[in-house]
Amino acid sequence: MSSVKVAVRVRPFNKREVDLGCKCCVEMSGKKTSIYNPQTGQRKDFFFDYSYWSHDAFMIDPSTGMFEKDSPGSNYASQSMVFDDLGKEVLDNAFEGYHTCLFAYGQTGSGKSYSIFGYEKNIGIIPLACAEIFKRMEISQAEDPDAIQYTVTVSMLEIYNECVQDLFVKPKKRPKGGLKIRETKKDGMYVQDLTKIPVVSYFDIDEQIKFGTTNRTIAHTDMNSTSSRAHTVTTITFQQTFFEGGKPTNKTSSNINLVDLAGSERQKDTHAEAARLKEGSNINKSLSFLGKVISILADKAAGKKSAKNAVVPYRESKLTMILKNALGGNSKTAMIAAISPADDNYEESLSTLIYANQVKSIKNQAKKNESAQD
Ligand code: ADP
Ligand code: MG
Repeated sequence: MSSVKVAVRVRPFNKREVDLGCKCCVEMSGKKTSIYNPQTGQRKDFFFDYSYWSHDAFMIDPSTGMFEKDSPGSNYASQSMVFDDLGKEVLDNAFEGYHTCLFAYGQTGSGKSYSIFGYEKNIGIIPLACAEIFKRMEISQAEDPDAIQYTVTVSMLEIYNECVQDLFVKPKKRPKGGLKIRETKKDGMYVQDLTKIPVVSYFDIDEQIKFGTTNRTIAHTDMNSTSSRAHTVTTITFQQTFFEGGKPTNKTSSNINLVDLAGSERQKDTHAEAARLKEGSNINKSLSFLGKVISILADKAAGKKSAKNAVVPYRESKLTMILKNALGGNSKTAMIAAISPADDNYEESLSTLIYANQVKSIKNQAKKNESAQD
């Protein structure tokens, strides 16, 4: 049994928050993240595996209110620090033959995509992980080219409006109702007909992921023009066949799932108008069932009587079907909870921290996925 690892990351102020004259209501020290209620001043403390202070990324020039790029503060938790803690562990586990999952949760604009994909020069966990996978494979091949054969594939999907779509297929060519999710005893849940592209180099995988990223649905909402109502799941399948005396002896296979969730604030916002917007209520469905699955698993882990026989509602939404293994199943899983530092976003940040606190107690039972070859 292993717990889900949880990290919190607080981003710098954005322009809107600077313009509003927002104050920072978050503090971090070691593993502790504290948040202050801007009305009452009351403090709440949370403890996570990692608390990443990425607030003072860029100094703000007081005369212009603009960020001075390229001058991160000395405490700034960079992309490579986050990758070293979380991304490398995901890869270590994959090389050992475990399924792994890393997902980013938080309100729109809190820094989920920044951590998972990154922007421009500040590349995130996915490209850093891809580079590291091929680096490790090259080192092992240089030591002994005949000892291990690697097979790597990549797939990317999006869940939008409770519809699963292949991001390697151009929007016009996608099936109307989306792809079906199936389940087998051996492989667990999988998405039928999802394109899996074999990749042999970092360049290869990076190109594919860039292509998939451009095919994402970006919906414009009032709240934030770049907000995404879709969940994006990037899966790298990683297989190793071990050879002795020219004969295959053992094989491991793991799925590395990297998940950029839709903004969590819609859970509440769409709740109020669920009946009005089909789209909204459906998106609400995936995130709200993620919340239900997480709270039931947390109650089970805490030994709560009421949860003992409760059915975990994995089948109720596309997102929870796809994340079934990652939550309470056969996977080593980690979460990044992304928060805004601003007092203006206090309620959303607090709710993200409470969510993350529940996720922390979920226990998974990861097994090595290996099979002897003869
Ligand atoms: P989300 O995916 O949660 O909606 P983004 O990742 O797109 O949010 O982040 C919103 C904005 O904040 C982007 O402009 C991004 O560059 C910036 N940002 C987010 N996290 C950080 C960080 N840790 N350091 C610097 N800038 C960040
Ligand atoms: Mg995003």
